[in-house]
Amino acid sequence: MMPEAAYIYSPEQLNYKFSEDHPFNQRRLSLTLDLLKELGALEQHQIFPARMATDQELLLIHEEEYIKAVKSASTGLVQSSYSSTFGIGTEDTPAFPNMHEAAAWLVGGTLAAVDMVFEQGYKHALNLGGGLHHGFRGKASGFCVYNDSSIAIEYMRRKYQARVLYVDTDAHHGDGVQWAFYNDPDVCTLSIHESGRFLFPGTGNVNERGHGEGNGYTFNIPLEAFTEDDSFLESYRKAFTEVVEYFKPDVIITQNGADAHYYDPLTHLCGTSKIFLEIPKLAHELAHKYCEGRWIAVGGGGYDIWRVVPRAWSAIWLEMSGQTDLFKQSLPDTWLKRWQKETDAVLPDSWYDKPDMYPPIPRKNEINLKNERTLNKALEPIFKKKTDNEKQNVLL
Ligand SMILES: [Zn+2]
Repeated sequence: MMPEAAYIYSPEQLNYKFSEDHPFNQRRLSLTLDLLKELGALEQHQIFPARMATDQELLLIHEEEYIKAVKSASTGLVQSSYSSTFGIGTEDTPAFPNMHEAAAWLVGGTLAAVDMVFEQGYKHALNLGGGLHHGFRGKASGFCVYNDSSIAIEYMRRKYQARVLYVDTDAHHGDGVQWAFYNDPDVCTLSIHESGRFLFPGTGNVNERGHGEGNGYTFNIPLEAFTEDDSFLESYRKAFTEVVEYFKPDVIITQNGADAHYYDPLTHLCGTSKIFLEIPKLAHELAHKYCEGRWIAVGGGGYDIWRVVPRAWSAIWLEMSGQTDLFKQSLPDTWLKRWQKETDAVLPDSWYDKPDMYPPIPRKNEINLKNERTLNKALEPIFKKKTDNEKQNVLL
């Protein structure tokens, strides 16, 4: 087995649960862990526990008043003012018992992943319980209480003096992380998502580029609704490749929401499982090229927990641990049989979706063209810098 990748998991991460029928469902963690074990792709010695983040760590990003409110909501003391002030007790992010502890365990998982890379010498680490990218400094939002990625980024900056590139391929804009570092030139964020025109949270416009010293270190690629694999991947590859070369980070952290799939019930993108095999592949390659391998990956959204998320998230681990040969095999029968009993959805037995999974998209060309223009507009500052440098070189 490859020694360079660490898988972070603790059963306490399953306690992050709003209600029985809430779309954010951590059963995804169990489905994925079980799939990897049945594949023989994850051994006990590769799994490391998460931990509960301390208040001190939460305070790296979150406001004290907010943490207090989350703690009170955890014990059942939900005041009506919490929903407007702190975003807790809303329809999206209802309070539940021990909410604070459960959310802090997700954060601690991402911090454990960071330490595996910076202290234990692992090249890569994966915390699928993380990726709660909508959490704000003083407010819960979009199923997210504490923002593990933001906290992990600030933690890496302070503890390891690292320049951090954050790349978010969730179908929703990575707003919480973006705004946390909007003024910061040592943290660069790149979010590729469905345009906010019809989708939560509505931000992530191409013109959001950072502020003050941070201007030029925020990148957004808002894709058209009904975007398919090829256009999604072209945008992702071009943007990631250009941004990493421009920013030259010490470490890459990727948020791997699995909700850009055609089957996802909350979004309007038309990806197939192919994008979820390609996304970690490029992250892996670029982490080795620019960061001596340092790559931390977290989960995120993903609301078809049966047909999409287990394959998408397993693919990250298979990529990280050098086991992508397994994509040539079918999914293990034992896994399919065990979980098929639990759902009406027909579990796919291949890593690749069938090409006729959905009817042709009528506006395909228009969508692809629009995405291409958006991509070029988003990368304009990089192209401009390159041209300026070339001019400079000619003058010298
Ligand atoms: Zn999402």
